[in-house]
Amino acid sequence: MAESKRDYYEVLGVSKDADDAALKKAYRALAKKYHPDANPGDKEAEKKFKEASEAYSVLSDPQKRQQYDQFGHAAFDGGAGGGGGFGGFDFSGADMGDIFGDIFGDIFGGGRSSRARSNGPMRGADVRTSVRITFEEAVFGCEKEVEINYKEECGTCHGTGAKPGTSPQTCPKCNGKGKIMYTQQSFFGTVQNVQTCPDCGGTGKVVKEKCPDCYGTGYKTVRKKFKFSIPAGIDNGRYRRLTGLGEPGVNGGERGDLLVEIIVSSHPIFKRQDTSIFSTVPISFTKAALGGPIRIKTVDGEVEYEVKPGTQTDTRVRLKGKGVPSLNYRNVRGDHYVTLVVQVPERLTEAQKEALRKFEDAMEGVTVNEEKHKKKGIFK
Ligand SMILES: [Zn+2]
Ligand SMILES: [Zn+2]
Repeated sequence: MAESKRDYYEVLGVSKDADDAALKKAYRALAKKYHPDANPGDKEAEKKFKEASEAYSVLSDPQKRQQYDQFGHAAFDGGAGGGGGFGGFDFSGADMGDIFGDIFGDIFGGGRSSRARSNGPMRGADVRTSVRITFEEAVFGCEKEVEINYKEECGTCHGTGAKPGTSPQTCPKCNGKGKIMYTQQSFFGTVQNVQTCPDCGGTGKVVKEKCPDCYGTGYKTVRKKFKFSIPAGIDNGRYRRLTGLGEPGVNGGERGDLLVEIIVSSHPIFKRQDTSIFSTVPISFTKAALGGPIRIKTVDGEVEYEVKPGTQTDTRVRLKGKGVPSLNYRNVRGDHYVTLVVQVPERLTEAQKEALRKFEDAMEGVTVNEEKHKKKGIFK
């Protein structure tokens, strides 16, 4: 060949000792970038695509790779095809089909590859929505309702999309298969590719006269409400799956599901972590010193708690079983942790001040924490 050819390793941008995985990865990236379907009418891209395909077809075959390493491009010149350069090899082998399948999946995403598969029953897509609930509703569970756009089978045509009195015909383009094969000529011969039938969208059936009520879609979109229960103990961001309330399936496939994301509103005084609830309760400094009953808010309502005499600020107490029920274990419930914060009064009356001065006098000679800290400071 007159035209000088680039080195295959250079074409793929890999080193001479690249392994199969590296070759495949490099080729896949190039094929994706330069594939004719992704670059319609771009001759340069087509050339690059062919060049990369050629390089890959040789280097991915151990025998050919060895020959290429030994003799370079000359290894494949003057073969049976003459002038074509690759006449001596059959490049329409199964492995190329495999990698093409792979790459096509990559280029067009899962949607295409699954649609291209067959005209058999296909499950409908899942639909997502969300619902907001209160902190308490999450703790104890609740009944909720969501309103969504729901595709309902058209009552006029019963989902066929055909005008009453007519029925869908087998698609003449794909003979009811839902997919068509098309061949692509390339240096390695003829490659067969599979594409969803454009006439019937993969269903294998075409509607000649459309149902006037649903415009041939077979479905009508309606606003519909669904009630469902949310279990006690659910946490923010979890999903509730409502089976069969998603998009309708195709060709008799089952409906998808409705996924409802649960958004739990924050609470003004309670915080939550898994099954534990946390809150902060202020207590007076006399209550902290002398001890005594206080009332603490829990999700079950107020409970009485006996503060121990001499309670320090930031003491954490546990209210057993006042937390969140476990979603996974029945009859297991978390605890509520309360941080007691001692409040020092800011505004005092003259009488209160007098009482405190007397208290101060009575504390003469008693080692208080403040004194302890001072002494520690001296010896440090
Ligand atoms: Zn209809
Ligand atoms: Zn068709």
